[in-house]
Amino acid sequence: MFSNSADSGGSEARNPHWQSEGCRFKSRKCQIGTLLCWGDMIQVKRRSTLVCPTSGCLWPKLSDGTVSVPYVISDAYSADEAEVILHAMREFHTLTCVRFVSRRSEKDFVQINSNDGCWSSVGRLGGAQELSLAKDGCLIHGVVQHELNHVLGFIHEQCRPDRDNYIKINWQYVNPEDAMNFAKSDLSPLNLPYDYTSIMHYGRYAYSNTTGEAVIVPLVNSTNLLGQRYGMSPIDVHRVNTVYSCREYACEKVPHTTSMVPSFICSGHYQVDGTFL
Ligand SMILES: [Zn+2]
Repeated sequence: MFSNSADSGGSEARNPHWQSEGCRFKSRKCQIGTLLCWGDMIQVKRRSTLVCPTSGCLWPKLSDGTVSVPYVISDAYSADEAEVILHAMREFHTLTCVRFVSRRSEKDFVQINSNDGCWSSVGRLGGAQELSLAKDGCLIHGVVQHELNHVLGFIHEQCRPDRDNYIKINWQYVNPEDAMNFAKSDLSPLNLPYDYTSIMHYGRYAYSNTTGEAVIVPLVNSTNLLGQRYGMSPIDVHRVNTVYSCREYACEKVPHTTSMVPSFICSGHYQVDGTFL
């Protein structure tokens, strides 16, 4: 089951899973232009709208049906630190057709550095693109997977265009300079259920300017826990398999090993803790 540690406490600063998410480090990457619900994502100037994954930002499929994402891991990481990243990647290999592969000579690749916080571009940019996973705070399984989902082209769950049916944003607890982190996108939610347990969902205290006051409040069930960073939810996995047409996984019962609840995916239906969605 969920641990309260993922979604409790008066502020995100008290939650280790959130310490390095978003613009905590106030890097220049977080201050570029018109950030909309981006937080830890880099807005690329040549993309004027948030159109990934429909603008060619997906990673290419190979003839064997897998999707190859070449990477280079900075040698600034120790072997143990690099293993956290590699372990997070391997779970994609188990649950989806995405394959993170050590770069040989590929033109497009992800350079993983311990920079100023946890952030990524959204989708494939072309050429080298940086993914920052700071050694101090980002080497957490779910945080790494969150950023890898950005690399694959996915944005935050609470930015879905239909999010107001599921959550309430308490704007009074958001500073104006942080409001961009809660703007809605026009990206299709792909007919997937709203997922409070998504690894791409912010915690309820993210960017709160008032200790103990939640910014994000679930409408459907006020006790829903938000902002887990243990691992991808079943719907997170299905989103990857849907967008990347991982057909070989479409009707294969796959145990979801890192979730707090045992679950399986088959034919686009979700069986989560006994509930059929
Ligand atoms: Zn993010």
